[in-house]
Amino acid sequence: MSVKPGTPDVEQPSIEDRLYTVKYEDPGDSHLDVELAGICEEKCVTQDCVSVCPANVWRDEGDDGVPTIAYENCLECGSCRWACPHGNVVWEYPENGSGVSYKFG
Ligand code: SF4
Ligand code: SF4
Repeated sequence: MSVKPGTPDVEQPSIEDRLYTVKYEDPGDSHLDVELAGICEEKCVTQDCVSVCPANVWRDEGDDGVPTIAYENCLECGSCRWACPHGNVVWEYPENGSGVSYKFG
């Protein structure tokens, strides 16, 4: 799936407006995961992956403590990888030619 970038015609663009300017090529498979779900369930109390992500990729949606991952929104900033206090984030670049590209960078 390919999303064309565009500049929102609004005075104060929201995060969603700004994210709309990012071009994205879906690699088809998630490039993000957790190493061991049990660590999220039993050891993690802070869920830093959820709070640090600027694109709402990691989400606390279940009741087991294991975050869901909307990898399609990922901006490849790498913050989740470093924020996890248990080193439990599996992080790879999307396959060649996929992932994000930025209009102004
Ligand atoms: S911060 Fe790490 S251990 Fe905690 S929920 Fe996220 S991936 Fe799991
Ligand atoms: S790399 Fe950045 S944007 Fe992607 S999931 Fe991690 S924190 Fe979120």
